Amino acid sequence: MIVVKFGGTSIQDAPAIRNVCDIVISRVQQKPVVVLSACAGVTNALIHCAELAAGGKEHEARNRLNDVIFDKHYELIQDLIEDLRDQDTLVREFTQFKEELEHLLYGISITGDLSSRVLDFVLSYGERMSTSLVTVALQERDQRAVLIDSRNCLVTNSMFGKAEPLIEETTAKCESVIRPLIDSGKIPVMQGFIASDVRGITTTLGRGGSDYTSAIVGAVLKADVIEIWSDVDGILTADPNIVPNALRVKEMSFQEAAELAYFGAKVLHPSTLLPAIENNIPVTILNSRRPKLEGTSITAQTARTDVAVKSISYKSGITVLNISSTRMLGSYGFMKKIFDIFNDHSTSVDLVTTSEVSVSLSIEHSPDLTGLLQQLEEFGSVTIQEHRAIVCIVGENIKRERGLAARIFGRLLDVPIDMISQGGSETNVTFVIREEDISRTVKELHDEFFSSITVTGVFE
Ligand code: ASP
Ligand code: MG
Repeated sequence: MIVVKFGGTSIQDAPAIRNVCDIVISRVQQKPVVVLSACAGVTNALIHCAELAAGGKEHEARNRLNDVIFDKHYELIQDLIEDLRDQDTLVREFTQFKEELEHLLYGISITGDLSSRVLDFVLSYGERMSTSLVTVALQERDQRAVLIDSRNCLVTNSMFGKAEPLIEETTAKCESVIRPLIDSGKIPVMQGFIASDVRGITTTLGRGGSDYTSAIVGAVLKADVIEIWSDVDGILTADPNIVPNALRVKEMSFQEAAELAYFGAKVLHPSTLLPAIENNIPVTILNSRRPKLEGTSITAQTARTDVAVKSISYKSGITVLNISSTRMLGSYGFMKKIFDIFNDHSTSVDLVTTSEVSVSLSIEHSPDLTGLLQQLEEFGSVTIQEHRAIVCIVGENIKRERGLAARIFGRLLDVPIDMISQGGSETNVTFVIREEDISRTVKELHDEFFSSITVTGVFE
């Protein structure tokens, strides 16, 4: 069996959904389980409605619910579903959903309380509607599609808003709910992103969590492959907004893809890969608008290649903190104390470089660093550099390549560099620059590493 997951943009309108149905049908022989996000924009709109209600603007929240979410879904039913009885059934189901959501918004507005538990429940409607719609669309194309509720399959802890799966329970449920459907030749269609805790209360896996759902389901059911369909051609050698002729990377290792996911490749949710890695299940990134393209295949080990660099990515909105102290550094336990401070402020550190008398750390931009800075200043003088970007050069052969640093920084002679780190994983070189230098840096490096590459089997 395989898992095929479609993101919100792949199901944003009727033609897109028809395309998705074609793709699912083309894979019937491989026994697909279909995992779907909410239609594009719906999760954001639901969050907005809930926030409006919590801010006492119930009327506005209701209007948005109708105009942005339900008008869109009613229109989708009209455009997509042919049989009038099917249309009618869906309209009735969605109207029921709308009434429930209106009650929820009312409740949120009178208490003014929007807990993550309530928000998860509100958000669940997005995926419940998209899956309902696509199931009927597949049935109209004579497919034996069966809608299942992921809350009966994925069991998580009760960390609402960012729940983590309980694998044993999830395996048991998936085996009893999904496996028999696959075995009898049916096509299960299930929601990404939503799940439930052991008490049956609705949870979500965090924004973008549908990819995670597909990896969890693929892992527990031992899928042959997990296909992640979105609106990009796969992982590219660089951001196509900066480098229009960026190449598609055909194959990547888990390790390489994980580095890229952390540093803003935007294609994958980083934790997505974990269940797949642990179970050695290949993940393929594909474009639902160009289904003939083979995309990017991510596997435990990629074929041997001499190519050193596979991709260049970056993440903007970075702040660098430099702490220097002749007093404390080098003394035992200093780093621990520093990291404890970041921990206390729930701030995660991306990059660290140290010398005997100073330590530099990069964090995501945060509007208020006062508390953090006050505590850090007890250890030495602290300087801040804002509006920075992390650039990450990834490739499994980086560890073997000679002269790579010279090639990288030789190209960037007039770009000020704030930090440099060659990752512990040895599959990346990462450094920090000013945001305004992102474009020329990425262009220069792409030119250095990819301009003379012909199609090598690795790129296209
Ligand atoms: N619909 C959810 C979100 O927008 C989950 C997903 O799309 O992966 O975050
Ligand atoms: Mg998504």
